[in-house]
Amino acid sequence: MISFDFKYFKPSSVAETIKTYNDVCEQGEKALFISGGTEFITFARVNKIHTDAVIDCKGIPECNVLEQRGDKLVIGAAVSLNKIANSNLFPFLGATVKQIADHSSRNKITIGGNINSELIYKESVLPLLLVDANVKITKGNDEEIVSLTSVFDRKMNLSSGELLLQVIIDTSYIDLPYISLKRTKFSKVGYPVVSVAAIVKDNLLRVAFSGVCDYPFRSDEMERVLNDSVFPVVERIEKALNHIPSQIVDDLQGSREYRVFVLKNVLLDVMEEMEMGE
Ligand SMILES: Cc1cc2nc3c(=O)[nH]c(=O)nc-3n(C[C@H](O)[C@H](O)[C@H](O)COP(=O)(O)OP(=O)(O)OC[C@H]3O[C@@H](n4cnc5c(N)ncnc54)[C@H](O)[C@@H]3O)c2cc1C
Repeated sequence: MISFDFKYFKPSSVAETIKTYNDVCEQGEKALFISGGTEFITFARVNKIHTDAVIDCKGIPECNVLEQRGDKLVIGAAVSLNKIANSNLFPFLGATVKQIADHSSRNKITIGGNINSELIYKESVLPLLLVDANVKITKGNDEEIVSLTSVFDRKMNLSSGELLLQVIIDTSYIDLPYISLKRTKFSKVGYPVVSVAAIVKDNLLRVAFSGVCDYPFRSDEMERVLNDSVFPVVERIEKALNHIPSQIVDDLQGSREYRVFVLKNVLLDVMEEMEMGE
Protein backbone atom coordinates (compact mmCIF):
# COMPACT_ATOMS: atom_id res chain seq x y z
CA MET A 1 0.00 0.00 0.00
CA ILE A 2 1.11 3.55 -0.73
CA SER A 3 0.64 5.68 2.39
CA PHE A 4 0.28 9.07 0.69
CA ASP A 5 -2.19 10.54 -1.81
CA PHE A 6 -0.99 11.81 -5.15
CA LYS A 7 -2.53 13.13 -8.36
CA TYR A 8 -2.12 11.07 -11.51
CA PHE A 9 -1.78 12.66 -14.97
CA LYS A 10 -1.40 10.95 -18.32
CA PRO A 11 -0.81 13.70 -20.90
CA SER A 12 -1.01 12.88 -24.60
CA SER A 13 1.70 15.17 -25.97
CA VAL A 14 5.08 16.58 -24.98
CA ALA A 15 3.62 20.10 -24.75
CA GLU A 16 0.85 18.91 -22.43
CA THR A 17 3.40 17.04 -20.30
CA ILE A 18 5.58 20.11 -19.83
CA LYS A 19 2.52 22.25 -19.07
CA THR A 20 1.28 19.71 -16.53
CA TYR A 21 4.68 19.62 -14.85
CA ASN A 22 4.86 23.44 -14.69
CA ASP A 23 1.27 23.72 -13.41
CA VAL A 24 2.00 21.29 -10.57
CA CYS A 25 5.20 23.13 -9.64
CA GLU A 26 3.47 26.53 -9.76
CA GLN A 27 1.11 25.24 -7.06
CA GLY A 28 4.16 24.57 -4.89
CA GLU A 29 3.83 20.82 -5.34
CA LYS A 30 6.27 18.15 -6.45
CA ALA A 31 5.78 16.19 -9.68
CA LEU A 32 7.50 12.98 -10.78
CA PHE A 33 7.63 11.50 -14.29
CA ILE A 34 7.06 7.78 -14.61
CA SER A 35 7.27 5.42 -17.59
CA GLY A 36 6.68 1.89 -16.30
CA GLY A 37 6.01 3.00 -12.73
CA THR A 38 7.50 -0.14 -11.16
CA GLU A 39 10.25 1.68 -9.33
CA PHE A 40 7.94 4.49 -8.26
CA ILE A 41 5.48 1.98 -6.75
CA THR A 42 8.25 0.00 -5.03
CA PHE A 43 9.83 3.10 -3.51
CA ALA A 44 6.49 4.74 -2.61
CA ARG A 45 5.33 1.62 -0.74
CA VAL A 46 8.33 1.82 1.59
CA ASN A 47 8.19 5.64 1.83
CA LYS A 48 11.53 5.99 0.05
CA ILE A 49 9.93 8.53 -2.25
CA HIS A 50 7.20 11.12 -1.91
CA THR A 51 5.45 13.14 -4.58
CA ASP A 52 2.28 15.20 -4.93
CA ALA A 53 1.75 14.25 -8.57
CA VAL A 54 2.81 11.54 -10.97
CA ILE A 55 3.02 12.32 -14.69
CA ASP A 56 2.84 9.15 -16.79
CA CYS A 57 4.82 9.33 -20.05
CA LYS A 58 3.01 6.34 -21.57
CA GLY A 59 0.46 8.61 -23.28
CA ILE A 60 3.08 10.57 -25.23
CA PRO A 61 3.30 9.18 -28.79
CA GLU A 62 7.03 9.98 -29.12
CA CYS A 63 7.74 7.86 -26.04
CA ASN A 64 6.09 4.80 -27.60
CA VAL A 65 7.99 4.71 -30.89
CA LEU A 66 9.95 1.58 -31.68
CA GLU A 67 11.07 1.59 -35.30
CA GLN A 68 13.86 2.06 -37.77
CA ARG A 69 13.72 5.46 -39.48
CA GLY A 70 16.26 5.64 -42.30
CA ASP A 71 19.64 4.91 -40.77
CA LYS A 72 18.42 5.42 -37.18
CA LEU A 73 16.71 3.10 -34.75
CA VAL A 74 14.35 5.09 -32.54
CA ILE A 75 13.22 3.70 -29.17
CA GLY A 76 10.71 5.64 -27.08
CA ALA A 77 11.43 6.02 -23.37
CA ALA A 78 8.14 4.30 -22.46
CA VAL A 79 8.81 1.15 -24.51
CA SER A 80 9.00 -1.95 -22.31
CA LEU A 81 12.11 -4.10 -22.09
CA ASN A 82 10.18 -7.10 -23.45
CA LYS A 83 9.01 -5.14 -26.49
CA ILE A 84 12.59 -4.15 -27.26
CA ALA A 85 13.84 -7.73 -26.91
CA ASN A 86 10.94 -9.25 -28.85
CA SER A 87 11.24 -6.77 -31.71
CA ASN A 88 14.76 -8.04 -32.45
CA LEU A 89 15.50 -4.63 -33.97
CA PHE A 90 18.71 -4.37 -31.94
CA PRO A 91 19.75 -7.85 -30.76
CA PHE A 92 22.61 -6.55 -28.56
CA LEU A 93 20.26 -4.31 -26.56
CA GLY A 94 17.64 -7.09 -26.57
CA ALA A 95 20.13 -9.61 -25.14
CA THR A 96 21.15 -7.18 -22.39
CA VAL A 97 17.68 -6.08 -21.29
CA LYS A 98 16.44 -9.69 -21.31
CA GLN A 99 18.76 -10.26 -18.35
CA ILE A 100 17.01 -7.61 -16.25
CA ALA A 101 14.37 -8.78 -13.72
CA ASP A 102 11.80 -11.50 -14.56
CA HIS A 103 9.59 -11.80 -17.64
CA SER A 104 6.45 -10.29 -16.04
CA SER A 105 8.38 -7.32 -14.64
CA ARG A 106 9.95 -6.71 -18.05
CA ASN A 107 6.46 -6.25 -19.51
CA LYS A 108 6.20 -3.17 -17.28
CA ILE A 109 9.79 -1.93 -16.89
CA THR A 110 10.66 0.57 -19.62
CA ILE A 111 13.97 1.62 -21.08
CA GLY A 112 13.36 5.21 -19.94
CA GLY A 113 12.69 4.05 -16.40
CA ASN A 114 15.76 1.83 -16.38
CA ILE A 115 18.10 4.55 -17.67
CA ASN A 116 16.69 7.01 -15.11
CA SER A 117 16.49 4.45 -12.31
CA GLU A 118 17.64 5.47 -8.83
CA LEU A 119 19.25 2.03 -8.49
CA ILE A 120 22.93 1.64 -9.30
CA TYR A 121 22.57 -0.95 -12.09
CA LYS A 122 20.80 0.62 -15.11
CA GLU A 123 21.96 -2.27 -17.28
CA SER A 124 20.21 -1.09 -20.44
CA VAL A 125 22.70 1.79 -20.55
CA LEU A 126 25.62 -0.58 -21.22
CA PRO A 127 24.98 -1.24 -24.93
CA LEU A 128 23.94 2.39 -25.42
CA LEU A 129 27.29 3.64 -24.09
CA LEU A 130 29.08 1.37 -26.56
CA VAL A 131 27.14 2.37 -29.68
CA ASP A 132 27.46 6.14 -29.14
CA ALA A 133 23.69 6.46 -28.74
CA ASN A 134 21.93 9.81 -28.83
CA VAL A 135 18.92 10.75 -26.76
CA LYS A 136 16.04 13.09 -27.41
CA ILE A 137 15.19 15.09 -24.31
CA THR A 138 13.02 18.07 -23.50
CA LYS A 139 14.71 21.38 -22.74
CA GLY A 140 12.27 23.95 -21.44
CA ASN A 141 9.50 23.95 -24.02
CA ASP A 142 11.81 22.58 -26.73
CA GLU A 143 13.15 19.18 -27.64
CA GLU A 144 16.75 18.43 -28.49
CA ILE A 145 18.89 15.51 -29.56
CA VAL A 146 22.20 15.17 -27.74
CA SER A 147 24.74 12.39 -27.21
CA LEU A 148 23.87 10.09 -24.33
CA THR A 149 27.27 10.72 -22.76
CA SER A 150 26.61 14.47 -22.62
CA VAL A 151 23.74 13.85 -20.19
CA PHE A 152 24.72 10.50 -18.68
CA ASP A 153 27.68 10.41 -16.33
CA ARG A 154 27.18 7.74 -13.68
CA LYS A 155 23.47 8.62 -13.90
CA MET A 156 21.14 10.68 -16.04
CA ASN A 157 21.70 14.34 -15.28
CA LEU A 158 18.45 15.89 -16.41
CA SER A 159 17.36 19.17 -14.88
CA SER A 160 14.09 19.38 -13.03
CA GLY A 161 11.18 19.11 -15.46
CA GLU A 162 13.31 17.62 -18.25
CA LEU A 163 12.12 14.41 -19.75
CA LEU A 164 13.81 11.63 -21.67
CA LEU A 165 11.74 11.08 -24.81
CA GLN A 166 13.73 8.71 -27.01
CA VAL A 167 16.95 6.79 -27.48
CA ILE A 168 18.38 7.00 -31.01
CA ILE A 169 20.92 4.53 -32.38
CA ASP A 170 22.80 4.65 -35.64
CA THR A 171 21.94 1.42 -37.48
CA SER A 172 25.57 0.95 -38.58
CA TYR A 173 26.20 -0.42 -35.06
CA ILE A 174 23.43 -2.97 -35.11
CA ASP A 175 25.24 -5.82 -36.85
CA LEU A 176 28.55 -5.52 -34.97
CA PRO A 177 29.64 -8.61 -33.01
CA TYR A 178 28.48 -8.36 -29.40
CA ILE A 179 28.33 -10.18 -26.10
CA SER A 180 26.38 -9.49 -22.95
CA LEU A 181 27.24 -11.51 -19.84
CA LYS A 182 25.66 -11.18 -16.43
CA ARG A 183 26.55 -12.99 -13.23
CA THR A 184 24.21 -12.91 -10.23
CA LYS A 185 24.52 -14.29 -6.71
CA PHE A 186 21.94 -17.09 -7.03
CA SER A 187 19.34 -17.33 -9.76
CA LYS A 188 19.10 -15.86 -13.26
CA VAL A 189 16.80 -13.15 -11.87
CA GLY A 190 18.71 -10.84 -9.60
CA TYR A 191 20.81 -7.75 -9.45
CA PRO A 192 24.17 -8.23 -11.08
CA VAL A 193 27.31 -9.13 -9.16
CA VAL A 194 28.90 -8.22 -12.47
CA SER A 195 27.30 -7.41 -15.82
CA VAL A 196 29.51 -6.83 -18.85
CA ALA A 197 28.50 -5.81 -22.36
CA ALA A 198 30.97 -5.61 -25.24
CA ILE A 199 31.18 -5.03 -28.97
CA VAL A 200 34.02 -5.05 -31.46
CA LYS A 201 34.20 -2.01 -33.74
CA ASP A 202 37.08 -1.45 -36.14
CA ASN A 203 38.87 -4.44 -34.56
CA LEU A 204 38.77 -2.77 -31.14
CA LEU A 205 36.87 -4.03 -28.13
CA ARG A 206 34.47 -1.64 -26.43
CA VAL A 207 33.27 -2.74 -23.03
CA ALA A 208 30.87 -1.41 -20.38
CA PHE A 209 30.16 -2.58 -16.84
CA SER A 210 27.37 -2.65 -14.28
CA GLY A 211 27.51 -4.02 -10.72
CA VAL A 212 31.25 -3.34 -10.44
CA CYS A 213 31.11 0.25 -9.19
CA ASP A 214 27.98 1.93 -7.86
CA TYR A 215 27.15 3.20 -11.34
CA PRO A 216 27.38 1.79 -14.88
CA PHE A 217 30.47 2.86 -16.80
CA ARG A 218 32.68 2.57 -19.84
CA SER A 219 36.39 3.33 -19.37
CA ASP A 220 38.81 4.49 -22.12
CA GLU A 221 41.78 3.36 -20.01
CA MET A 222 40.39 -0.13 -19.50
CA GLU A 223 39.63 -0.46 -23.21
CA ARG A 224 43.12 0.76 -24.16
CA VAL A 225 44.75 -1.90 -21.98
CA LEU A 226 42.37 -4.68 -23.08
CA ASN A 227 43.13 -3.89 -26.74
CA ASP A 228 46.92 -3.86 -26.26
CA SER A 229 47.72 -7.13 -28.08
CA VAL A 230 51.42 -6.91 -27.15
CA PHE A 231 50.47 -8.55 -23.84
CA PRO A 232 48.72 -11.88 -23.22
CA VAL A 233 45.00 -11.66 -22.43
CA VAL A 234 45.40 -12.64 -18.75
CA GLU A 235 47.93 -9.86 -18.24
CA ARG A 236 45.75 -7.33 -20.04
CA ILE A 237 42.85 -8.19 -17.76
CA GLU A 238 45.01 -7.80 -14.63
CA LYS A 239 46.16 -4.39 -15.88
CA ALA A 240 42.63 -3.33 -16.83
CA LEU A 241 41.48 -3.94 -13.26
CA ASN A 242 43.90 -1.21 -12.11
CA HIS A 243 41.83 1.28 -14.10
CA ILE A 244 38.41 0.59 -12.58
CA PRO A 245 37.22 4.18 -12.10
CA SER A 246 36.18 4.00 -8.45
CA GLN A 247 35.76 1.71 -5.50
CA ILE A 248 34.35 -1.73 -6.26
CA VAL A 249 30.97 -2.42 -4.67
CA ASP A 250 31.06 -4.49 -1.49
CA ASP A 251 27.55 -5.50 -0.37
CA LEU A 252 25.15 -8.37 0.22
CA GLN A 253 25.22 -9.37 -3.47
CA GLY A 254 28.95 -9.91 -3.27
CA SER A 255 32.08 -8.82 -1.46
CA ARG A 256 34.67 -6.67 -3.23
CA GLU A 257 37.03 -9.66 -3.56
CA TYR A 258 34.28 -11.85 -4.99
CA ARG A 259 33.32 -9.21 -7.54
CA VAL A 260 36.95 -8.94 -8.68
CA PHE A 261 37.14 -12.72 -9.02
CA VAL A 262 33.91 -12.84 -11.04
CA LEU A 263 34.90 -9.84 -13.15
CA LYS A 264 38.22 -11.44 -14.13
CA ASN A 265 36.45 -14.59 -15.25
CA VAL A 266 33.76 -12.71 -17.15
CA LEU A 267 36.41 -10.62 -18.91
CA LEU A 268 38.26 -13.82 -19.87
CA ASP A 269 35.02 -15.14 -21.40
CA VAL A 270 34.45 -11.84 -23.21
CA MET A 271 38.00 -11.75 -24.64
CA GLU A 272 37.77 -15.36 -25.76
CA GLU A 273 34.30 -15.03 -27.27
CA MET A 274 35.24 -11.85 -29.11
CA GLU A 275 38.53 -13.44 -30.29
CA MET A 276 40.69 -10.71 -28.78
CA GLY A 277 43.88 -12.83 -28.65
CA GLU A 278 45.54 -15.45 -26.50
C1 LIG B 1 12.20 -7.86 -9.90
C2 LIG B 1 13.10 -6.74 -10.35
C3 LIG B 1 14.43 -7.03 -10.68
C4 LIG B 1 15.26 -6.02 -11.16
N1 LIG B 1 16.53 -6.34 -11.56
C5 LIG B 1 17.28 -5.40 -12.19
C6 LIG B 1 18.53 -5.74 -12.75
O1 LIG B 1 19.01 -6.86 -12.64
N2 LIG B 1 19.23 -4.77 -13.41
C7 LIG B 1 18.75 -3.49 -13.54
O2 LIG B 1 19.38 -2.66 -14.21
N3 LIG B 1 17.59 -3.15 -12.99
C8 LIG B 1 16.85 -4.06 -12.31
N4 LIG B 1 15.66 -3.72 -11.76
C9 LIG B 1 15.38 -2.29 -11.58
C10 LIG B 1 14.52 -1.82 -12.61
O3 LIG B 1 15.17 -1.98 -13.84
C11 LIG B 1 14.18 -0.36 -12.44
O4 LIG B 1 13.59 -0.14 -11.20
C12 LIG B 1 13.23 -0.11 -13.57
O5 LIG B 1 14.05 0.02 -14.69
C13 LIG B 1 12.32 1.02 -13.48
O6 LIG B 1 11.63 1.07 -14.71
P1 LIG B 1 10.21 1.72 -14.81
O7 LIG B 1 9.95 1.94 -16.26
O8 LIG B 1 9.18 0.94 -14.08
O9 LIG B 1 10.55 3.08 -14.09
P2 LIG B 1 9.65 4.15 -13.36
O10 LIG B 1 9.19 3.67 -12.03
O11 LIG B 1 8.63 4.65 -14.30
O12 LIG B 1 10.75 5.30 -13.17
C14 LIG B 1 12.01 5.05 -12.58
C15 LIG B 1 12.74 6.39 -12.43
O13 LIG B 1 12.98 6.95 -13.70
C16 LIG B 1 12.37 8.24 -13.82
N5 LIG B 1 11.81 8.29 -15.18
C17 LIG B 1 10.97 7.38 -15.74
N6 LIG B 1 10.73 7.70 -17.02
C18 LIG B 1 11.41 8.86 -17.27
C19 LIG B 1 11.55 9.68 -18.42
N7 LIG B 1 10.95 9.39 -19.57
N8 LIG B 1 12.33 10.78 -18.32
C20 LIG B 1 12.94 11.10 -17.16
N9 LIG B 1 12.86 10.34 -16.04
C21 LIG B 1 12.09 9.23 -16.09
C22 LIG B 1 11.30 8.29 -12.76
O14 LIG B 1 11.06 9.62 -12.34
C23 LIG B 1 11.94 7.44 -11.66
O15 LIG B 1 12.86 8.21 -10.91
C24 LIG B 1 14.81 -4.69 -11.27
C25 LIG B 1 13.47 -4.40 -10.92
C26 LIG B 1 12.63 -5.40 -10.47
C27 LIG B 1 11.21 -5.06 -10.14
